[in-house]
Amino acid sequence: MQRDTVYELVDVRKRYGTRRNYVEALRGISLVVRKGEFIAVMGPSGSGKTTLLSILGLLTKPTSGTVKIFGKDVMRLTDKQATLLRRKTIGFIFQTFNLVPWLTAYENVELALAIGEYNGNRRRKIMELLSAVGLEHRANHRPTELSGGEQQRVAIARALANDPIVILADEPTGNLDTASGLQVMSILRSLVEEGRTVVMVTHDQKMAEMADRIVKIRDGKILGEVIPDVKA
Ligand code: ADP
Repeated sequence: MQRDTVYELVDVRKRYGTRRNYVEALRGISLVVRKGEFIAVMGPSGSGKTTLLSILGLLTKPTSGTVKIFGKDVMRLTDKQATLLRRKTIGFIFQTFNLVPWLTAYENVELALAIGEYNGNRRRKIMELLSAVGLEHRANHRPTELSGGEQQRVAIARALANDPIVILADEPTGNLDTASGLQVMSILRSLVEEGRTVVMVTHDQKMAEMADRIVKIRDGKILGEVIPDVKA
């Protein structure tokens, strides 16, 4: 394995259901993700995108095949080891933001720090995270007092609380207008420039073209990969 390999998937299959009655969501996915890559995963509804993301997020184990994260075989991790590794290395961003509605932007980020047992100067760290997404002036607002784009930026600040090397984003611009979507994409791009790895599921061709590589999946299989043209 090369040193800059984040994920290595070989012939990954995932079945849901019982032995007799099942859905095969992934049917032999092989994929390498390198450090500092920005990957978009595209495919129709039901093609296995979310299942793939949850395997990359160590939330689901494959039925067969190999998944390695930083050279570690995921199948060999206990649930506790997987949870610890996930907290240390992976940040999640969702289409529906998933902020706690009764907490302010500040408190939503603080909650993620608490889970990660941060011991430094909490206030400074939270304000740094909010200012990294341009929202220090919204620290005391609750989600209902923020636009969709602002909510997603709070969710990105939250995802960054534990300084993850990998960001997994499930349709992060799916609920946003074009301008807010582009703002989110530019933040994701800046995370990649910092050396983080982003894997994003999207339906949106325009957003996908801002990634370094587009992986197209259908019926649980990789159809092919596209390297988008470099924009002037
Ligand atoms: P996508 O994100 O591309 O829409 P999913 O990964 O959500 O695709 O789903 C792939 C297939 O697996 C679909 O047929 C879906 O119905 C099925 N599936 C997903 N999650 C489950 C589950 N927890 N139990 C049973 N079937 C599931």
